[in-house]
Amino acid sequence: MKKKLIAGNWKMNGSLAANEALVRAVVAGLPQAACKVAVCVPAPYLAQVQALCQGSALELGAQDVSRHEQGAFTGEVSAAMLADFGVRYAIVGHSERRQYHGETDELVAAKAQAALARGITPIACVGETLAEREAGQTEDVVRRQLAAVIDANRSRLGEIVVAYEPVWAIGTGRTATPEQAQQVHAALRAQLAAATPQPERIAILYGGSMNAANAASLLAQPDIDGGLIGGASLKAADFLQIIAAAG
Ligand code: PEP
Repeated sequence: MKKKLIAGNWKMNGSLAANEALVRAVVAGLPQAACKVAVCVPAPYLAQVQALCQGSALELGAQDVSRHEQGAFTGEVSAAMLADFGVRYAIVGHSERRQYHGETDELVAAKAQAALARGITPIACVGETLAEREAGQTEDVVRRQLAAVIDANRSRLGEIVVAYEPVWAIGTGRTATPEQAQQVHAALRAQLAAATPQPERIAILYGGSMNAANAASLLAQPDIDGGLIGGASLKAADFLQIIAAAG
């Protein structure tokens, strides 16, 4: 059985002092973890967190990556730069990037490609809004978002991670039920199966108000291979409980 992956998304939170306390506490609680664990941190803190993770099983992630390799793209961070800091994962297409920065399916797919080209695993996020769910469009929306990533990365599909994050569940305290999440994960798995011979190799994470109380039931679903954790990844005790639930 493949190991589950629990990835924290700190979003735009943290400080040198807070990061140090958080990462030290997570690392101290990790030795028993039977799953893979990563934290996706704001870019300015990559060097700090890289140093804090040294010698532990905690892996480093970024929250975004440029589609471009280098050049006149003020404010952007390239995959090569992330690789310089030992970054193992990069979130692409988080709904906050799609919503506040106008990221399109095509751009998200190109970012996944840029990450893969530098040996970084993209965590490609898909998810519907509440209006889309209520209109019965959930599977159409996530399939469209995933199709763009598949089309641009067909030859390296086995190396990506997908995260199903219903937009209405992110940071709201409202989680998809295990059954709702499993239904979408199964649809995503079927879509991957049509594009790659070993779809089970691709981890499909659930994200959206996952916490210490609901993690076990979500992670028990057959097509939920881990979690992308926002708010609860900022509290070491909560994050460690989710990690334990994945073990
Ligand atoms: C996220 O930002 O990816 C996320 C899942 O956030 P939260 O866990 O806070 O809902």
